[in-house]
Amino acid sequence: MRVLVVDDQEANRYLLRAIFEARGDAVGEAANGREALELLRAEPFEMVVADILMPVMDGYQLCREVRADAQLRRLFFVFYTATYVDQKDEALALRLGADRFFRKPMSPKELLCAIDDLVGGHAGEGNRAVPEESQADSETEILKLYNERLIQKLGHKVEELEREMLQRLLAEEALRTSEERYRSLVEQAADAIYIVSPDASILDVNPSACTILGYSADELVGRSFLDLVPPGDLAATPLQVREAAKGKAIVFERNLTRRDGTVVPVEISAKALDDGRIQGIARDVTERKRAEAALRESEERYALAAKGANDGLWDWNLRSGELYLSPRWKSMLGYEDGEVGTESEEWLGRVHPDDAEAVRGDLKAHLDGATPFFEHEHRVRHRDGSYRWMLTRGLAVRDETGASVRMVGSQTDVTNRKLAEEQLLHDAFHDQLTGLPNRALLLDRLSQAGERIKRAGSLPFALLHTGLDRFHVVNESLGHSVGDKVLETTAQRIEGCLRPGDTLARVGGDEFVVLTEDLKDVSDATRLVERITRELSQPILIGDQEVFVTASTGIVTSNGVAERPDDYLRDAHVALGRARTKGRGSVETFQAELHERVMSRLRLETALRHALERDEFEVYYQPVIDLEGDRLLGLEALVRWRHPERGILPPVEFLSVAEEAGFLVAIDRSVIGKACRQLRSWLDRYPALGHLTMSVNLSSRQFSEPDLVRFLETELQKSGLDPRHLHVEVTEGTLMESISRTRAVLTELRSMGVRLLIDDFGTGYSSLSYLQNFPIDTLKIDRSFVGQITSASSQAPIVQTIVALAENMGMRVLAEGVETAVQCTRIRSLRCQSAQGYLFSRPIDALQTEAVVLTRPSWGLAS
Ligand code: C2E
Ligand code: MG
Ligand code: MG
Repeated sequence: MRVLVVDDQEANRYLLRAIFEARGDAVGEAANGREALELLRAEPFEMVVADILMPVMDGYQLCREVRADAQLRRLFFVFYTATYVDQKDEALALRLGADRFFRKPMSPKELLCAIDDLVGGHAGEGNRAVPEESQADSETEILKLYNERLIQKLGHKVEELEREMLQRLLAEEALRTSEERYRSLVEQAADAIYIVSPDASILDVNPSACTILGYSADELVGRSFLDLVPPGDLAATPLQVREAAKGKAIVFERNLTRRDGTVVPVEISAKALDDGRIQGIARDVTERKRAEAALRESEERYALAAKGANDGLWDWNLRSGELYLSPRWKSMLGYEDGEVGTESEEWLGRVHPDDAEAVRGDLKAHLDGATPFFEHEHRVRHRDGSYRWMLTRGLAVRDETGASVRMVGSQTDVTNRKLAEEQLLHDAFHDQLTGLPNRALLLDRLSQAGERIKRAGSLPFALLHTGLDRFHVVNESLGHSVGDKVLETTAQRIEGCLRPGDTLARVGGDEFVVLTEDLKDVSDATRLVERITRELSQPILIGDQEVFVTASTGIVTSNGVAERPDDYLRDAHVALGRARTKGRGSVETFQAELHERVMSRLRLETALRHALERDEFEVYYQPVIDLEGDRLLGLEALVRWRHPERGILPPVEFLSVAEEAGFLVAIDRSVIGKACRQLRSWLDRYPALGHLTMSVNLSSRQFSEPDLVRFLETELQKSGLDPRHLHVEVTEGTLMESISRTRAVLTELRSMGVRLLIDDFGTGYSSLSYLQNFPIDTLKIDRSFVGQITSASSQAPIVQTIVALAENMGMRVLAEGVETAVQCTRIRSLRCQSAQGYLFSRPIDALQTEAVVLTRPSWGLAS
């Protein structure tokens, strides 16, 4: 069945489309009643599903028009709407001839069942019975009801908007008061308080931050927080500030550099705000640090004890080998005081095997006098068999000869901090929503895979870059929490398709990348993509809602040309982009030429931008010859690009790219300006050529620029050219793009005195009679007709017809692309008045034009 979905909300249309397409219906879309009518009249449909409240033409009106139209009356027409509906709406809809009136929400299944019901009820009738036209006598009644319904709906809508606005005002007010309160607290705090963006640039600071760091607020705001960290420190613990996510404050110590270069130690408590910015409170801990240093220097274990009852203490007599361990030390590992002996192995034997060697090494270094103190973080086995992270500090006590006789120290449980650090590290390399590796980790795995291939000559790997199609629509129509669920499900489904050892990463909103290694054959990768695509196309059930998504994939294999991990990712992304242009659920494999195409396109765009800046565009001129009078009628201005390396380039080489990149309007305008000034100067110097005209080509973009007429007026004025010398050429396609606008522009140009030519005539789809409505002077017959025009060819009648009709409508005919004398004779005999083509001259620059065209007395057409 062909179904036309009419709704002004794109999201709603998308949903309905998905519902109908899922069971094989063909679906068209219209954003309002007017569009719907146009579509219905142009294409065959069997069913219309319409909303009520829509701009331009609402659903009721659409229904009326459909039922009043003899061609469309047989359509099934149902309403599907939620906007402020009540019984009367349904009554009105049915009265207007709707078949059904469905209210949202309805599950897709219900909706489809109801529709099948409707259609099924008419099966066997062959053609659907024509609904009766509404009764004439109830027409006024219907109108009344209709107006009342619309007013009621609009009333609701206005109320809703007002409510929303009021709520927003109240929320803003509340926010302002709480912000003010917060502000004054922040201003008075003794600690530095700052806010940084997710990329660590400082957004706001309080006065204490300035005092502690010695900068003014202006100097701090905008600066990167990382600038304040001494470079060495950054290498040691890089990402702490940025990864304070998860909503829990994290606390850590850092050194910061003051304006004068000195370093201040601070303890930072950082926390991510909802929007990703990070708020930090930094306390100056210079004093505490100084005390700690003093403490470290002290030789007494009781001085160490002052550091806190939480630490365990130990005292090792190196002469007797006896190790004293404090009760706290033992309880930190789950033991009672009496349960641990005095052997040094009681400590060292419990150190994690992976850490033991380093601990012993550092101990020896300090005892030998190589280090000023002992400090080490390592894992120690707890009574319950688990390992705890301990920070152990110690200092040797030496005799008068310098030999160590004793060593005392403390033990601090740093398990929580270690875990937090590990979590941070994990977060830095994983996506929060899905828990999958992120781009950074993927790049790391990718470079390992690259290394393996280089070293061991392993089998190739492939990267599959999968993106959900039109995922934003899911977010917009169903909300972000549904969107998140869809992403999570997507991740799980892809994961379900993978082999052990494959890596799945989330690299962007709706984009996932699979790295799969050791491929026996490239078809392994395509098979995997097929499996993934199939899995992802299954509907996702969220609550009682079924969501349909499809995914497209770009594939790149390690046999490609990329060298660095980044390049592979980029190539896979390019391939995904290509796949997406092919439509939903597509797959594309990266090819080196693809990359080359993209790159050369990019280079061309950049070069074009420079060309505009450096004014590298020149105008060439091609003469237009009057076939009856054997003389020069005018010139067509054709753009050329004087490329610094490639020389003179014709328009095919750059116009389409210039158009896509948005440069064409500027190029056209520079050509028009130059052509006008050139003609003015020739008219001044060759008074005999006072009738000469100049044709300029207008792209459709140019033609739809709102200030086109004003621009031409100004150019004419600046160059001092009379408007009747100016001809503008547009193609049929341009004229048909927006008919009402075309008429307005053409009329305005015409009233200025500018003449209008239709370029490449015959290649478009406009009918001659249609053109009659526009003030057009000349049709330029496309050179494809002229090129094949021999007396025997089939093109002659076409040209003949065009000439005859043009004569009828008072238009002139110009033949383009006349290359041979035979063609010329032929078109003359068909009564074309003028011609252009290589037979007379190729397009040439201004100097040559002056030398060979302007001064040429005759064109060899004496009849
Ligand atoms: P057009 O306006 O139909 O221009 C005629 C094209 O046919 C020119 O190509 C011209 O060199 C070529 N031509 C003329 N006589 C003959 C002939 O006897 N045989 C053959 N085979 N070709 C002939 P050109 O200069 O390469 O321009 C191509 C198209 O680029 C133009 O087609 C026009 O649509 C566009 N163009 C040129 N200059 C401009 C410009 O300044 N602005 C805009 N928007 N488009 C331009
Ligand atoms: Mg032209
Ligand atoms: Mg043409």
